Amino acid sequence: MSDFVYDLIGLAAGVLFILALKGLSHPRTARRGNLLGALGAGIATVVVFFHGEIENLGWILGAIAVGTIIGVPAARRVQMTQMPQLVALFNGVGGGAAALVAIVEYLNLGDKATTAVVIFTVFTVVVGCVSFSGSIVTFLKLQELMTTRPVVFPGGRFVIAATLAAVLGSSAWVVIELGTTPLLVVAGLSLAFGILFVLPVGGADVPIVISLLNAFTGLTVAASGYVLNSTLLIIAGTLVGASGTILTRMMAEAMGRSLFGTLFGAFTAKPQDTSGAVEDRPVRSGSADDVAILLNYARRVVIVPGFGLAVAQAQHTVRELADLMISKGIDVAYGIHPVAGRMPGHMNVLLAEANIPYDQLVEMEEVNPTFGQTDVAIVIGANDVVNPAAQTSPGCPIYGMPILEVSNAANVIFLKRSMRPGFAGIENELLYDPKTMLLFGDAKASLTKVVSALKAL
Ligand code: NDP
Repeated sequence: MSDFVYDLIGLAAGVLFILALKGLSHPRTARRGNLLGALGAGIATVVVFFHGEIENLGWILGAIAVGTIIGVPAARRVQMTQMPQLVALFNGVGGGAAALVAIVEYLNLGDKATTAVVIFTVFTVVVGCVSFSGSIVTFLKLQELMTTRPVVFPGGRFVIAATLAAVLGSSAWVVIELGTTPLLVVAGLSLAFGILFVLPVGGADVPIVISLLNAFTGLTVAASGYVLNSTLLIIAGTLVGASGTILTRMMAEAMGRSLFGTLFGAFTAKPQDTSGAVEDRPVRSGSADDVAILLNYARRVVIVPGFGLAVAQAQHTVRELADLMISKGIDVAYGIHPVAGRMPGHMNVLLAEANIPYDQLVEMEEVNPTFGQTDVAIVIGANDVVNPAAQTSPGCPIYGMPILEVSNAANVIFLKRSMRPGFAGIENELLYDPKTMLLFGDAKASLTKVVSALKAL
């Protein structure tokens, strides 16, 4: 295949990536966007085999087979609630692969080793390694294979700063001296920096860091595109870097946090009780019948879905409850917090699965002023997004995050399984409020009972 045709096909793949991003910007077109992106990536992968000499074909096809055997079942089996972990893992592998390619390229640079190429190579190794080790730590945190709380230690900030300085210093050493050993030192230090950089981030902020690391991987891929002289890698990497940066900003804004606060807040925060220990204070718990009676006499009900609704897969049952209330003449709305669940748009996607009409979903800014006229706010598997500590406890991990102000409703019902805190690991005073009633149990089982009880009234 001539270079011209190859470049033209590469351009077509680049256009498909851009169309994919456009499609992904709306739930209605997201599926098509995803397919276009996959098509672009497929074309970009296959076209390489028809351009120039291919060495080690057996190894390449073997690696593709291994990746397919692991990746396809993993992606098919993953629950929606585990999506951020999967993204973290795939992203880490992408960063690690780019770093390895850069190291191999470095060994074969020969007389191509201009200062610019060496700088891009070192950049790819540094950012790829940070992205790899950082993503592995975020995966371990989200999968709860390690503590989700910030891991801080005395002098932590200085150790992080010293490691960063060492990464920069050794990178300069590679550029000036050239040599395999200095490059491997850079790789080792970068891996250590990736781990140290993510350890202090608390559970609730981890998805933001995943998005940031995703942007890093994009930059790594773009830089490796320069080293490998591949325009397509430059386009794809830049798109991932730019969209990842925008997503990181949007998530941080939705949580009312600065990126610096997200990454290093744990070092400056006042000590909090984030032990997750359950306090021994009285709460008002009720039965499904109690909840049904309260709903039956309500004129306006706001349903607040959260991560637990997704865990329980109760989206269809919640729709059944909402439809039943609407048939009884009750005004029903869903209050949607931008970071409810574990990824942006999580609740919209979840509720769309149950064909809940879009016009019943009300964004936080719009629904908040209506809680004063709401008889019952029914919080289903949500916690942090309604926790008043975000407004009243300076220094707590979610302080400053805008919340759904359900405490302004006449009655608040929480559907959860226990008194355990939410993702941020902090106590929620609203659970102890006299106007709050708790219905303990799995959200789907509890909702099923409430629906039966309400039908019987
Ligand atoms: P939380 O993690 O705060 O709370 C979820 C609640 O669901 C828990 O209290 C849990 O209590 C309950 N729960 C879990 N499983 C079930 C079940 N099967 N049935 C009933 N209840 C269940 O979730 P929120 O949605 O309120 O908050 C999202 C968090 O994620 C915030 O901290 C946010 O900052 C963070 N985040 C989200 C991002 C996003 O884009 N969506 C991005 C960045 C961060 P129990 O164990 O007692 O059942």
